[in-house]
Amino acid sequence: ALPNKPLGELKAELNPEVEEREVDILIVGGGMAACGTAFEIKKWAADKSILLCDKAAMERSGAVAQGLSAINTYVGTNSKEDYVRMVRNDLMGLVREDLIFDLGRHVDDSVHLFEEWGLPVWKKTEDGKNLDGKKGQKMGTLKSGAQPVRTGKWQIMINGESYKRVVAEAAKLALGEENILERVFIVELVLDANEENRIAGAVGFSVRENKIYIIKCNTMMVACGGAVNIYQPRSVGEGKGRAWYPVWNAGSTYTMCMKVGAELSMMENRFTPARFKDGYGPVGAWFLLFKAKTLNGLGEPYAGSDAAKAELEKYAPYGTAAITPTCLRNHLMLFEMKEGRGPIIMDTVTALAALGETMDKKELKHLESEAWEDFLDMTCGQANLWCATNTEPEKKNSEIMPTEPYLLGSHSGCCGLWCSGPAEDWVPASYKWDYNGVVYNRMTTVNGLFTAGDGVGCSGHKFSSGSHAEGRIAAKSMARFVKNNPDFKPTLNKSTEELVDLVWKPVKVFYEFSGYTTAVDINPNYIKPSGMALRLMKATHEYGAGTATFYQTSSKALEVVMDLLETMREDCEKLAAGDLHELMRAWEIYHRIWTVEAHLRHIQFRKETRYPGFYYQADYPGQDDENWFCFVNSKYDPKAGTWECKKEDYIKIIS
Ligand code: FAD
Repeated sequence: ALPNKPLGELKAELNPEVEEREVDILIVGGGMAACGTAFEIKKWAADKSILLCDKAAMERSGAVAQGLSAINTYVGTNSKEDYVRMVRNDLMGLVREDLIFDLGRHVDDSVHLFEEWGLPVWKKTEDGKNLDGKKGQKMGTLKSGAQPVRTGKWQIMINGESYKRVVAEAAKLALGEENILERVFIVELVLDANEENRIAGAVGFSVRENKIYIIKCNTMMVACGGAVNIYQPRSVGEGKGRAWYPVWNAGSTYTMCMKVGAELSMMENRFTPARFKDGYGPVGAWFLLFKAKTLNGLGEPYAGSDAAKAELEKYAPYGTAAITPTCLRNHLMLFEMKEGRGPIIMDTVTALAALGETMDKKELKHLESEAWEDFLDMTCGQANLWCATNTEPEKKNSEIMPTEPYLLGSHSGCCGLWCSGPAEDWVPASYKWDYNGVVYNRMTTVNGLFTAGDGVGCSGHKFSSGSHAEGRIAAKSMARFVKNNPDFKPTLNKSTEELVDLVWKPVKVFYEFSGYTTAVDINPNYIKPSGMALRLMKATHEYGAGTATFYQTSSKALEVVMDLLETMREDCEKLAAGDLHELMRAWEIYHRIWTVEAHLRHIQFRKETRYPGFYYQADYPGQDDENWFCFVNSKYDPKAGTWECKKEDYIKIIS
């Protein structure tokens, strides 16, 4: 049937409605971390007013929107110290061990909750053969001691297509639907007018109504995920919009927090995952569960070759560790490709044949369907691509390829905000700070402003479960914060008029000038967000260590891209939006530009290549542990409009 309503986005009106609110606690974002906060906070702050704003619908928002086929952090019978060691080695030695250890001791509790809420977790059977654990379900829950099917030391398998729905439902029930605003995009945070460096509120707008929200608060958590589409994706034209990372996370966490002066850390770190080419399908189950190997274009298992070993030795002690860090695994692939021995192939055929040797026909069919389900649970586009290219993994191998770069702090990356650790004796003094004499875990350097998940820097490998647990950790801190500061009266340092003018500027620009030309997207007086996105991607792709240059940049190239970014920031004054979707796009591209600028400033400051395989600074190849075995932190001064980068000491806590 034809739709009975005209198609198209909701037109932006010149004069939006303005709604002002005041709450004790504001949660910005509705992903795994924010759901953790929403679930936990009422327990500790039942008498406080709380509001959550998500730019999308929580059931399907953020990185887990499509579902997942594995929970990547479940400590179980492993030790928390080992968890710290694993994260440290994967991230080339530089991590905040306090934050990671703290997470390691709480993460399993979130996994137990997911199971209690109905998420099917694969369990081991006595014969060890039943991969999806149907029989195993009878063996009880993880909490009661049942053993999960592990794909690696830290990962467990789930039937997780509806993972985000399960987690969002619990968050909504705990917080109450009346305390949630979905489809509200937060644009900027606002500091207090009377107290220096104190958060006081935020401003955003509805993408479904012509309405601006100005929200005052005592304390706030910002967990808007990481950043995608800051670099030109490998898929362009018809495939545009396809990326590994969820396309709706636009760097809002980093930009909004840095713009009120919160200190960032390790923004030079990035993640360029090697995934099934073009469909971005996950490789974890293939490597870990199906024990598949990668081959170079000559059909050689290059990873164990003498050339690869020699390459890894250059990056000792990380390269020579028992488990090769993710960036160096990429480095080996790039090495093969540059030497003319690409493309890189996942040998699915041999892996399934080898597993088949110990199975009967029925079991093998079952295994093959698990291979498809792995994609259908979390990246169904890859299953479509296999169908479209007649790829049966038992008969035809598939190519894998490192993607374009993304910025995130919860997966195998560690950029984000510099946050206080727990208020415990073993945490070094420089890793924790107080507000009015009390240390608040996961508080940024702006008083009252918290973050979790992709927002917390220097502590990757949290994944979905860890982000949820970290949101719960932040919730307890925030509850304590409002209880300890009951007399704070937030006073925004910008007037209502200023905030409305700021948010609605792209609409005003559109109204003022759109009549000047007949083609609404082409106008000498403004630029549309889609045009700005292309401009940004071209600049970072070519100069900022994008795929165009095999992830390599140089001091000169960085200078060029910095100049381009500065002009782009100026030109953002001329962004125009004719409808509410486009208004969101305008603010997303603005957030992206600031985020990627922070990323490149950090790369420029760090005079070494800490993460070969993720990026290369051609003038400073290799690691320089003598001078750069430290964090890099940066701070934007909102009053002066200046940036500052500095070194921050790394302190080893776990031997
Ligand atoms: P997200 O869950 O991404 O949530 C971000 C939220 O912020 C969303 O609700 C979004 O709508 C909202 N938002 C963004 N901008 C704004 C704004 N301006 N205003 C208001 N709201 C905003 N983990 C595993 O355990 N196992 C896996 O197999 C696994 N696979 C993954 C595969 C992919 C492709 C990706 C990207 C991640 C994967 N992860 C996996 C990691 C996991 O998904 C993340 O660690 C986790 O989702 C991070 O939580 P978060 O809350 O920080 O961000």
